[in-house]
Amino acid sequence: MTDEIKRLKDIIDASNTVLILPHKAPDGDAVGSAVAWFHFLINNNKKPTIVFPDSPAAYLLPFLDGIEYLVFDTEPQKSLELLQHSDTLFCLDFNDPSRVGKDAVELISTFKGQSVMIDHHPFPTEFCNLQLSRPSVCSTAQLLYECIEEMDMLVTVDKNVGQGIYLGIMTDTGSFRYPSVDAKTHYILGKLLDLGVAHFKIHEAIFDVNTLDKLQLRGFAINEKLVCIPNHPIAYISLTKGELDRFNYQKGDTEGLVNVILSIEGYSVAALFVESRDGVKISFRSKGDYFVNEFSAKHFQGGGHKYAAGGFSEDTLSVTIDRFTTFLHELVP
Ligand code: 5GP
Ligand code: MN
Repeated sequence: MTDEIKRLKDIIDASNTVLILPHKAPDGDAVGSAVAWFHFLINNNKKPTIVFPDSPAAYLLPFLDGIEYLVFDTEPQKSLELLQHSDTLFCLDFNDPSRVGKDAVELISTFKGQSVMIDHHPFPTEFCNLQLSRPSVCSTAQLLYECIEEMDMLVTVDKNVGQGIYLGIMTDTGSFRYPSVDAKTHYILGKLLDLGVAHFKIHEAIFDVNTLDKLQLRGFAINEKLVCIPNHPIAYISLTKGELDRFNYQKGDTEGLVNVILSIEGYSVAALFVESRDGVKISFRSKGDYFVNEFSAKHFQGGGHKYAAGGFSEDTLSVTIDRFTTFLHELVP
């Protein structure tokens, strides 16, 4: 057992009331990891609660059935009280306190107990007592499984834990297809099926729940809003608030759209700009020699992985897109 895994085990052994905190706008890996860790801790006789900075999108809520959780945005006081009674804080699937948002960051900054970060994003900042960072691992969910295995605690991994792990791995790897997938990923997936995880149900719950509005928004975006940059394998889509309203936009409705852009033959960089009340949320995806995380950090207060990054702009949509087109030559390797 390595020193860091031994420290993780000691912290878990000594804990009783535990708060699990994933990042804001939680994706499948954030939710799956939180769910898996929740059940793993329950199986080890701990008292965990998940606090989401904001609510997960509707399509992820079925994975939270039977789970104790709070949403900081709607219940900040209750979340902070719960924190006061927690001895251990697990920060899952993020590498910097800012990723939980301006308000929920208080959960991290005021915490007096043992804090642990478990995450796979590169370049973590130091903000926890113990930081388990493995950027080569495809998902935080896989990293959790590896940690449990290395702590010699696999006997406490059941189907409930397995479902969360499967969800996290599946969503963060584009259904097991990104270069981050390794032999270990498939080995773990096999073990999860042995536990009785109904893999097809998880795929259906994520991919076969499109509303008509969501599909029609996607059709509109591809048909009328796709811009291909001349002489570069770079394309983007932007959506205004008005366009989103037209299709009764719900949180999560643009999920996956950026990957559709990247699927155009010969294209290596995709960007999606979505206007919101306070600014523009940006998603980047890339492949090959094109990397997007540092570009996003430099120009759009963002970051992430080299092939999948996010960012934000407080400027108008058109100013944000102008900035993108002005600097996109920096993306060319
Ligand atoms: P998405 O495009 O799905 O929102 O994000 C893609 C990846 O970039 C995810 O791994 C996510 O964790 C990361 N990411 C998204 N938004 C931000 C951000 O504002 N800052 C940083 N550092 N990473 C982000
Ligand atoms: Mn992740």
